[in-house]
Amino acid sequence: MAQTLSIIKPDGVKKRIIGKIITRFEDAGLEVVQIKRLRLDVAQAQDFYAVHKERPFFKDLVAFMTSGEVVVMVLEGEDAVEKNRELMGATDPKVAKPGTIRADFAQNIDANVVHGSDSAQNAQREIAFFFA
Ligand code: ADP
Ligand code: MG
Repeated sequence: MAQTLSIIKPDGVKKRIIGKIITRFEDAGLEVVQIKRLRLDVAQAQDFYAVHKERPFFKDLVAFMTSGEVVVMVLEGEDAVEKNRELMGATDPKVAKPGTIRADFAQNIDANVVHGSDSAQNAQREIAFFFA
């Protein structure tokens, strides 16, 4: 069984769609095996997104991810990493496929409701980051 890390970002928590998002994971055969709600501080957000630190949007990304509480969870199931990315949809909700979480709930590329690990290796690192 594969595992991946999912984060419901501050916009998703503020919109009170935690349940709707988790229902999509569960309906697709992904099980929530660990979950918690927390607020990232700036150092944690910078560390979590360190791969993007040279990108022009890094500062905005860290500001957004620390703007409110998030829900972090470990999803488990067959092809969990790929399945979660499919359910999320493209980074930019304008180009995300209809029926994906981002197409249905996200405002724009900054406030795009969910994070999901993009590879098995990053999933391992990201799960360890929150659930050591
Ligand atoms: P994803 O979340 O789909 O894996 P990335 O890892 O490329 O996307 O980027 C991480 C996050 O940074 C995105 O979810 C988005 O919130 C933000 N981001 C990515 N690209 C841009 C961009 N061009 N402008 C603003 N924010 C961006
Ligand atoms: Mg990414």
